[in-house]
Amino acid sequence: MSAQLQAIRGMSDILPEDAVAWQRIEGTLRDVLGAYGYREIRVPLLERTELFQRSIGEVTDIVEKEMYTFDDRNGVSLTLRPEATAGIVRAAIENGLLRNQRHRLWSTGAMFRYEKPQKGRYRQFHQFDIEALGFPGPDVDAELIVMLARAWRELGLRHLELQLNSIGMPEGRARYRAALTEYFRGHLAALDEDSQRRLERNPLRILDSKNPAMQALIAGAPLIGEYLDTESAVHFAAVQELLGAAGIAFRVNPRLVRGLDYYNRTVFEWVTDQLGTQGAVCAGGRYDGLVEQLGGSATPAIGCAIGLERLVELYRVCGGTPPAATVEIYVVAVGEGATALALRVAEQLRDARPGVAVEMNCGGGGFKAQLRRADASGATVALVIGEDEVAAGTVGIKPLRSDVAQVNVAVAGVVPAVAPYLRRQ
Ligand code: ATP
Ligand code: MG
Repeated sequence: MSAQLQAIRGMSDILPEDAVAWQRIEGTLRDVLGAYGYREIRVPLLERTELFQRSIGEVTDIVEKEMYTFDDRNGVSLTLRPEATAGIVRAAIENGLLRNQRHRLWSTGAMFRYEKPQKGRYRQFHQFDIEALGFPGPDVDAELIVMLARAWRELGLRHLELQLNSIGMPEGRARYRAALTEYFRGHLAALDEDSQRRLERNPLRILDSKNPAMQALIAGAPLIGEYLDTESAVHFAAVQELLGAAGIAFRVNPRLVRGLDYYNRTVFEWVTDQLGTQGAVCAGGRYDGLVEQLGGSATPAIGCAIGLERLVELYRVCGGTPPAATVEIYVVAVGEGATALALRVAEQLRDARPGVAVEMNCGGGGFKAQLRRADASGATVALVIGEDEVAAGTVGIKPLRSDVAQVNVAVAGVVPAVAPYLRRQ
């Protein structure tokens, strides 16, 4: 016997009973974003490797060690997208979306990172990605956050803290970088291996370390806030003021820097203490330089990504139970001519009651076996069609969750006859 095939480590199946929660969450996000004028964009899962090297940055965890990169049959280096922003910006430039225009966009789908799989951290995971291109802020920064707060509210999510910071502009960051390097050099022995490697190449990444042993040292490091240019400081103050006026609670976390290179000014994360170590469910920030860096004309922008696996988990923790998408009507068909009539009646019901799930018995069986399936399907009513019904042009209406006896009605009268048994009458 051959060995059983298995999914790739860190890549999960989402089974039908779990997919319902995903649909509820994705549907809510879609509706909320639509209400703010955001529109969907879909871009390929594969891009040239160069796109990610040039946007995310060479000295980041993603580009250094997390990308699924391979050569195609022509020897072109391709990478499965580890995040969505780069592809969306590439698409916006390539399709001329940015010529004196502004776009509020969203996208959703699978991302790929070669990470150590653990709870809340996978190799294929899903993000809901939001990008506002062509807006300098701070108005759109605040609106983005207000919109996310609405989405959490509509999903009934609790235990979320909004952390906010400004990382200023590249010039200030260069000075900050020098100060950080000097500080950490003074504590070389206390740095773990990762941090030592990051020290010369990208010391800001040390602040992002998840190693508990590093936290005290990080707590004593200089703060980026002291290196903000005036314009960034004004921008940051305005974001905070707008959020305050909108009644959004937040905490300024002066150590929040984010792991990707392209961010500037506003950065934020929504964090929960309910999911163990992987507590960030949504992260983002402003990236005013990225479009130009990728060959477009200078275009200010802000965006964020929601980690859907973590959001689904938090939804469960908060008691979210999506309505089960169960069958409401089961059609039993036994004998000569019954299947043809069953198909017709089921179609008639679907025409009259869109959204009601009608399951027709397929695969034969006697009345008893089919009614057992009807019961197991969760349906509240069965339509019973045998040779007698075919001959008389009628259908049996059999309630499945009460003692009410079966009645037979003319084919044309089926829709009103089942109405009392449906969830929405
Ligand atoms: P982390 O610090 O947890 O590694 P990150 O900074 O790499 O996160 P981003 O690239 O900003 O994450 O992605 C945004 C969100 O996507 C994260 O806040 C998280 O919810 C989710 N996410 C990132 N990587 C993974 C992963 N490997 N598995 C599941 N979700 C992820
Ligand atoms: Mg990461």
